[in-house]
Amino acid sequence: MSEVDSLRRFLFEEVPLRGHWVRLQDSWAAAREHQAHPLAVRSLLGQTLAAASLLAASLKFKGTLTLQIHSTGCLSMLIAQATHEQQVRAMAQVREGAAVADDSDFRTLVGEGRLVVTVDTHDDTPPWQGVVPLTGETLAASLEYYFEHSEQLATRLLLAADDQQAAGLMLQRLPNPAHAGEGSAAQWQAVWEEASLFMGTVQGPELLATPITTLLPLVFGEHDIRLFDATAVGYRCRCDRQRVSGLLRSLGETEAREVLAEQGAITVTCEFCQKPYRFVVIDVEQLFAPVPLPTAGQSLN
Ligand SMILES: [Zn+2]
Repeated sequence: MSEVDSLRRFLFEEVPLRGHWVRLQDSWAAAREHQAHPLAVRSLLGQTLAAASLLAASLKFKGTLTLQIHSTGCLSMLIAQATHEQQVRAMAQVREGAAVADDSDFRTLVGEGRLVVTVDTHDDTPPWQGVVPLTGETLAASLEYYFEHSEQLATRLLLAADDQQAAGLMLQRLPNPAHAGEGSAAQWQAVWEEASLFMGTVQGPELLATPITTLLPLVFGEHDIRLFDATAVGYRCRCDRQRVSGLLRSLGETEAREVLAEQGAITVTCEFCQKPYRFVVIDVEQLFAPVPLPTAGQSLN
């Protein structure tokens, strides 16, 4: 399988450490195809997309994982999503009138923002949500804080993106096995600390350019590491007419009819892929047609 648009999982054979690595190319290009942003925003968008892919891979769930930056800085919105099947998409919006330079830093973009992590399992259970303040100087540092405090899982994370690729490497310290002696625990802790330190020496360009088979021995030296088969990562927007119809219904009949009267049709454009959804009079009539009353023996639930 290709080294790009793929995700790899790895385990240290003799130490309770696990990792995930991802490199996106075509999926990253497709995700930002309709979005023109300064370099700093493109880079953060790519990093968030790589992070969403890594987080989705590290969790056991079926559905969609969303990372959403609620910013008080130059960004008004940034969202990246990955499904359990590694279908990804992302979008960013810059606040109107905000001055973003190509080299604007993380703090300028997000201000005193926070990151909301949502896991939606697409069944009857309500989505799970975690909120983390964007305290670090990078998205990666903020996510490390999130794992440490919300998941009690020590994590080291590297993220990088340029106009060709977006990549991420995540290493996590798993709980010691129950039978572990004190000596082993101390030794494992030392390996973890050393591995985190070495990860800190990897620069963005190196992360973007180096295949995982080269990167692992380079960063983690002589440790025996099991690298699992690649999972393909692909771009896919999940928008469809039914979702947009739901959105229009939630806006309300009065507002929908007002727009219809003014403009002759309602066009809703997907913010991720820019696909337009057009609703003319008959569509709007159907949207707000009264729901038939349930007959005896049927329940609305
Ligand atoms: Zn779409």
